[in-house]
Amino acid sequence: MDISEFDRLVIGLAEFVRRDGKYPYPELLRHALNKLALEITAVPYPRTLTGLLALLEKPVKTWYPKRLIAKEFDSDFGLLYEGGLSEEANRYFYEEIIARTKLPDYATAVTQEIAIENLHFQRILSHLQESYNNDNEPEIVQREYILLRRFLIENRYPTTAQIRKVFLKTKYIKNEEVGNLYEDCEIEELYWDCDRCGPLFKKYGQLRGIKPSVCNDHRQSLPYVKKITWQHGLRHLKFGIHLRICLPGIPEIRLFEILAELQRKFPQQLCSVHLYPGIDRYDLQLCFCDQTTWAVDIKDYQSPYKLAPKLTPLFGEGDLRYDESFYVIPIERLQQTENYLEILREQAAKLPSGTHLLSDAVFEERVINKIERLREGNS
Ligand SMILES: [Zn+2]
Repeated sequence: MDISEFDRLVIGLAEFVRRDGKYPYPELLRHALNKLALEITAVPYPRTLTGLLALLEKPVKTWYPKRLIAKEFDSDFGLLYEGGLSEEANRYFYEEIIARTKLPDYATAVTQEIAIENLHFQRILSHLQESYNNDNEPEIVQREYILLRRFLIENRYPTTAQIRKVFLKTKYIKNEEVGNLYEDCEIEELYWDCDRCGPLFKKYGQLRGIKPSVCNDHRQSLPYVKKITWQHGLRHLKFGIHLRICLPGIPEIRLFEILAELQRKFPQQLCSVHLYPGIDRYDLQLCFCDQTTWAVDIKDYQSPYKLAPKLTPLFGEGDLRYDESFYVIPIERLQQTENYLEILREQAAKLPSGTHLLSDAVFEERVINKIERLREGNS
């Protein structure tokens, strides 16, 4: 058993879950489980499938051989959660395995397919970035990027006609490219969407979301749970796009809307709020009337330990220059893990000490305070 056995297990499970747990099990998973049966010593190897699935839900560090756990995986979490990949396993699979430029050669067709899905978005993005840097109409490229990004965050179930209508006249984005980020819904099938976490799926007769650690109540009567009725040409977001673009985008757009509202109310103090400036160099840029500029990036990670290595100084050249920079964490995350921000600060070695780390609620307060100060100064 070499170090990549862990990745084999994760890939095998990802494929298993994608096939909805149907037989036959992916070859890779069977292989990984056979190896696991030989290696596991911390607990007795389960005799039944139910027992095995229950084990795979437990924190990895309690049963998996420690020396074989990938260092990028947070072993406080399990691999499965309620019949799907756990949030951490999903993150690891998409961010650490799929995002590698070269997939391991044992990755099978299903994983290759997921990687290609992911590439579709990357390709549009790099084309836009290139045009932004080399073209003489960066404003148009920027506008189209925001149009696409917001569309993917807000339209989880569009029709083909809707996609075509929105991207009919875009100069840098083809509507077929956007179509590639969605797949057809099954005819007459009922679909569900959650305002807070996107498309839902049914598991054991109940609606489940992709992010159970913060959004786990999906009773059909709740106002944020929406029923999607099938209609001709209905499509749904591909899983990888849901996980990597739509889901992290929800708190970004939420904060943007709040700030845009403040900007409308106090245009004399808060001159502008830009979303994804410079084709997503960071999430938000706030320009105040005293010529100061704030740069903001929103990061929604369950574990501060996994987030810390991703925190680097925000890009600040040219129009993206800023006076203060902020990494903003949705408050739900801070409520779940004690001392989240302290851990994050301590672990984020690459981050200059001037960068602020705070919750979305506290950030909003800071903006309001700044506006108040500027109003007082003017009077
Ligand atoms: Zn939800």
